[in-house]
Amino acid sequence: MSMYSTQKLKREIFSLFGEAGDYSTVGLPQAHECMYSAPRKDEERKKCRNCMFWVRTENCLLHPRDLKVSGSHICHHWIGGQLRQVWEDIGIDTPLMPETSGLELVKEGISCDNCSHYFWDGDETGLCESLVDTDNRPAKVHPKASCARWEQDKKEKNFIA
Ligand code: SF4
Ligand code: SF4
Repeated sequence: MSMYSTQKLKREIFSLFGEAGDYSTVGLPQAHECMYSAPRKDEERKKCRNCMFWVRTENCLLHPRDLKVSGSHICHHWIGGQLRQVWEDIGIDTPLMPETSGLELVKEGISCDNCSHYFWDGDETGLCESLVDTDNRPAKVHPKASCARWEQDKKEKNFIA
């Protein structure tokens, strides 16, 4: 069976039942438990450069001031906004550390449609195999949303239409 048809079959089964093969929704979290973040208005992928905490000097107001954070990094604490020209003290007593904030370099930015957990079938939304809705079925997610469970998509596309 080809990859295409395997994915399509998986998608069809788990959209109906929430389970397929070794896939199961048991124990998976809901979107609000994983910092699910709606798409930006311009639907640009999320990265430090479009986060309200990023400083043009390549720093993040939530991380240690001496840590270099490029505009192409991203962490779990992204909030949309305008970049800042200069550092300012926003009253952070305990800065985030990269080991726990999820800080990583992702040049193209992150969104559901470049996440390995995303499956798209031609609708405006896709399905996430890593989050569930209130009925414990794979959650519907916007292709330009994101969450803390994002993982780089190693495949070319998760398109299964
Ligand atoms: S490291 Fe996280 S909080 Fe800081 S600018 Fe980047 S996305 Fe925003
Ligand atoms: S597809 Fe990926 S980034 Fe989007 S909600 Fe699911 S785990 Fe999070």
